[in-house]
Amino acid sequence: MTEAQNELAPYAATVAHSRGRRHAEPPPALRTEFQRDRDRIIHSTAFRRLVYKTQVFVNYEGDLYRTRLTHSLEVAQIARTAARALRLNEDLVEAISLAHDLGHTPFGHAGQDALNECMREHGGFEHNLQSLRVVDHLEDRYASFRGLNLTFETREGILKHCSLKHALKLGDVGRRFLDRKQAGLEAQLANIADEIAYNNHDVDDGLRSGLVTLEQLATLPFLEEPLRRIKRTHPKLKPQLQGSELVREMIGRLVADLVAASAAAIAAAAPQSVDEVRALPHGLIESSAALREERLLLKRFLRDALYMHPRVQQMTAQARDTVKLLFESLTADYDRMPDEHAANAKALATAGDEAGAARVVADYIAGMTDRFALQTRDSLRAGR
Ligand code: MG
Repeated sequence: MTEAQNELAPYAATVAHSRGRRHAEPPPALRTEFQRDRDRIIHSTAFRRLVYKTQVFVNYEGDLYRTRLTHSLEVAQIARTAARALRLNEDLVEAISLAHDLGHTPFGHAGQDALNECMREHGGFEHNLQSLRVVDHLEDRYASFRGLNLTFETREGILKHCSLKHALKLGDVGRRFLDRKQAGLEAQLANIADEIAYNNHDVDDGLRSGLVTLEQLATLPFLEEPLRRIKRTHPKLKPQLQGSELVREMIGRLVADLVAASAAAIAAAAPQSVDEVRALPHGLIESSAALREERLLLKRFLRDALYMHPRVQQMTAQARDTVKLLFESLTADYDRMPDEHAANAKALATAGDEAGAARVVADYIAGMTDRFALQTRDSLRAGR
């Protein structure tokens, strides 16, 4: 099935111009190729695990905070709205958004930093690269190939950033980092939707946890006026709903601005195809200068007020220790991993490939949910 192409802009990705899958497959009957990508992502094991992976708050801290799963759904929702307004490929942007964090370790960024440190001698650990590794290699559920065999366009979107060292080894999806070319507009959009989503839901979760207050938020120049207006319009509104109204307004404003600024940038560059988009010296999906500045200020605010908050830092330190302990214990005795992982690591280590064996351990740890990582830590400590 192909998209109703008259509804898509000439610079949107289309199945007809897709660079295809690594292993050829017959076309799907009822869906487009990008819809099939999305469905494979939703059916993957890594996707289901996102429900028990930390965004900012560790899973056991409360049932109402965002997890990687609800974060990914919010990214997809924001990206789809903007994609439709810009006549981009909504199915593709949805697939990229749902897959973008599949490679995340347990315990959010703290877990990733710790694993990167453990892997320093063996090529490091980058979560974007790991998301691609999950869909290209680690998922194991199809008879004819390893991974999910996604289209080039979805894989390109998943690999947001990448060091040149790694880009060299990646083939087709690594090329653009070496050639300094752009990704397609759907990939650019999913990237910014990610930032809009986490900035806003972290404000919401920050307020809910009590670690961030409305008074603190009102110190930001661009939030003072909306907060005052919300209180004036609804004088008896309880603080929790003042926060919800504020977040709702911020998301709406950011998405409207993103669509308007991107539409203007697209009109100015006037690309007639995805290849023309890729060849441009800069991306076209971006907020206006004023809102880019606001996004930056909000990001800094969240870093100082929330991510550096002693309670979050305490969790961060615990996460770091857990990941290090897991890595050291599993490297010291591969048999503490399930049979298949243990056999792979042992075979590589015996062949003298230390980095390969370390990567098996890193893949195993990265795939863990928060609670499985904690359970494994406890049983390793107990010597079981
Ligand atoms: Mg994300």
